[in-house]
Formats: sequence, structure tokens, C-alpha cells
Amino acid sequence: MVWRLLSFVGLQAAAAALAWVLVAPGARVWTALVAAIGAGYVWLLLDAVRGLRLLNWLRRGESTELALGQGLWGEAAERMRRLLRTRERQVVEGEGKLQDFLAALQASPNGVVLLDAQGRIEWFNQMAGVHFGFDVRRDLLQHFGNLVRDPEFAAYFAERDFSHDVVMPGRDSTNAIPVRLSVQLHPYGEGRSLLLSRDITAVEQAEAMRRDFVANVSHEIRTPLTVLAGFVETLQSLPLDEEERQRYLGLMAQQAQRMQSLVNDLLTLSRLEGSPLPSAHDWVSIAAMLRACEAESLELSRLLWGRAQSIVFESGPPCELAGSQAELYSAVFNLVGNAVRYTPADKSIHVRWQSVGNGACILSVEDTGPGIAPEHVPRLTERFYRVDRSRSRDTGGTGLGLAIVKHVAQRHGAELRIDSTPGKGSVFSLVFPASRVRGIAT
Ligand code: ADP
Repeated sequence: MVWRLLSFVGLQAAAAALAWVLVAPGARVWTALVAAIGAGYVWLLLDAVRGLRLLNWLRRGESTELALGQGLWGEAAERMRRLLRTRERQVVEGEGKLQDFLAALQASPNGVVLLDAQGRIEWFNQMAGVHFGFDVRRDLLQHFGNLVRDPEFAAYFAERDFSHDVVMPGRDSTNAIPVRLSVQLHPYGEGRSLLLSRDITAVEQAEAMRRDFVANVSHEIRTPLTVLAGFVETLQSLPLDEEERQRYLGLMAQQAQRMQSLVNDLLTLSRLEGSPLPSAHDWVSIAAMLRACEAESLELSRLLWGRAQSIVFESGPPCELAGSQAELYSAVFNLVGNAVRYTPADKSIHVRWQSVGNGACILSVEDTGPGIAPEHVPRLTERFYRVDRSRSRDTGGTGLGLAIVKHVAQRHGAELRIDSTPGKGSVFSLVFPASRVRGIAT
């Protein structure tokens, strides 16, 4: 400021002095005065030009350098340039942070939609696009309620009680493949809301399975229990002769046995689900396992049919299988036991252990029983799924055998294959990978 004043006064003084020197003595005073005022105007004009250049530069908003030299305008230009640079950097940083934030929302496994005060879509992530079938180019700034027309959501939106979620079908939901979404609005700011959507299909299915399972177990236990209670009452209330008493006790033992098998299978399943995977370093002899299985299946056959069926066991070249002996035996015996139970007494059963190339091996149980219609095959490993309910019960089935086999197979890296032709018979096979099999020298 001092310099401005000095330069202003200095220029006027210099002009006055020059006029004083150059002009004749009579007109000196006036000429010097006019020269000083003129110099003052020139100074002010030049100053205004520099100020205007700065103003124009600011108006254009250009980032190019502006040379205004030293002095007030030069310093003002320099300070403004620095201020602008700082602002630009802050904007870039802010934009970067916003992009990071949006990328994090994109990575969310849940659908995220930002709605403005009028309920229009301001932004949504890819998962929300999948859940509701939104398209970025088409649906931004559209009313959410116009695009998602589910009546349950409409009622939820109208009620404006967002303390809980609403469950509605997803866009791709069909009767065959239902998709269920949990949707909740979270108000924020001035009338805006954050809408979160979550695919709960698997959770709902698991919950439904759990409910079905409990209902099935209760039903399976209640039936023999009711029969048992009936027999107990009969024994208590009726004067029976010894023969009748023995007959009733035999029937009661059968029901007790049925409940015992059910509880045993349930315990086996829960052990399979809850225990660590079987070791890949414990080796089980196939021949020994099949020998034990043969003895037990012949006994079962005699018990069920009064005589042993024709059951042929081929254990192939001596080999060992890596895994849990108890689990593998239970899987194999479940398959052979099913063949015995579902194949009539005069028909045959073939159990084979074979190599199928590239080191993999297959254990197959082939029967000549009734076979299974194709529509039942995919569901056979579901718990309590039975094709012929009474046949299963009459032969001591629990409906859990193939579920156990499937679990054991999975735990041993094996695959359960089912091939069946109604009226001809079925082949149940367990295919073990090469990594689980090793040959042994005899
Ligand atoms: P279950 O204890 O009832 O035999 P499983 O889980 O072992 O239960 O088998 C499920 C159903 O698959 C059985 O109820 C039966 O209808 C059918 N099934 C299993 N094995 C055979 C087979 N070898 N031949 C015909 N049907 C079979």
C-alpha cells in the first residue's frame, strides 16, 4: 500500500518537476500542476487496466498464468491463483473420495438405492440393478414406486413406518425358482432415503427346510410311538393269553426298533454335518469292507425275505480308500441294504469295485428291483423323501439312508450317481477320485 502511494505521488512529482524544468518561468506553476494531475490520471488508468485484466481473467475462469508483475494487482492475482489451485485440489480429492465411497457401495453384496425427497432414484449399485432390474441410463431419476410395483412394497412405502423391512419377490422370481428380497428404507437428510435390499432366498429356504425337518422327525417318531402306546394300553387293559401277549410284544419290539433306527440315522447325519472332514491319510481296505458288508447284507436278506438273495460281491484288484472307515462302511451298507430291501427275493444284486481309468474308482450296487421313475431321482437324497412310503417303512427304512450316503460321498470328494429304469432295476454308484484310492501289493 505504501508503495502504491509512493509510486502515485512519485509519478506526479516527477511530471511536475519535468514541467518545471522544461517550461518558461511565467507558466511554470500552472504547467507543473497540470502535469502532476495528468500523471495522476495516467497512473489511475494504468491501475484500472491491470484491475480489469485480473477481473477478466477471473471471469473467464482460465487456469493460464496471468502476468501482472509486482504490486497490489500482481499479488492479488497470485493469491487468487493459489486459492484456486487449493480449491481445485480439494475438489479432485473430494471427487476421489466420492468415487471410493461409491466403489465401496458397489462392492456391497446388498442392493443400495439412494432416493431423493420425492422418492426418485438418484443412484443405485449393481446389486440393486440385479434385484429390481434397473438400468442406469433408463431408470435414474425415475420414481422408485413407479418401477417397483409390488403391492407389499407399495403398502410399506405408503405406511411410512420404516422401522422394519418388507419381504417381496425379486424381479427374476418365478414359481419354479423363487427369489425373495428383504427391502428396508432408511430415511436421512431432508426427506431423502437409503434403500437397502438383501436376497434372503437361501435364508428362507434354509428356514423352511429346518421347519420341514422338525415336522418330519416329529411325525416319524410319533407314528411308532402311537402304535407302541396302543399296544401298552391293550396289554394293560385286556386279559391276553400267552400267545397273544408274545405277538403284541413282538410288534412293540418292531416299533421300538423303528424308532431306534430313526434316532441312529439322525445321529449319524448330525455327526456328518458337525464333525471335521475325514483324514485323507487313513486307509480303508476295500476287500475287508465289502466282506463285512456281504455278511451283514445276507443276514438282512434272510431277516426280510426268509432266505438270502443272490448277492454277488466283486472287490476287484486289492485297493485301499482314504477316509473314515465308519462313514464309508455306513454309505456302502446303506446302498447295499436298499438293494436288499427293494429287490424281490428271487432277483439278484451285484456289488462291484472297479477302476474307471485315470486312477478314479467306482463302487456300484446294481439291483434288479422295481427301479425308480426319473422324476423321483433328483429328490432321492432329500431327507425323508421316499418313492414308496409303505415299502420303505415295512422294510425298516427311515428315509434318511441316501441323505447319509450323499453326505459321506461329499466328505470323501466322491460323487453319488443314480441310474434307474422303472421295472428293470437301479444302479447306485459312488465315484471316488484318484487322490483317494491306492492299490496295494498282495
Ligand atoms: P429309505 O430308508 O426309505 O430306504 P433312502 O434314503 O435310503 O430311504 O431311500 C430313499 C427312497 O429311494 C426310498 O424310500 C426308496 O423309495 C428309493 N430307493 C432307494 N434305493 C432304492 C432301490 N435300490 N430301488 C428302488 N428304490 C430305491
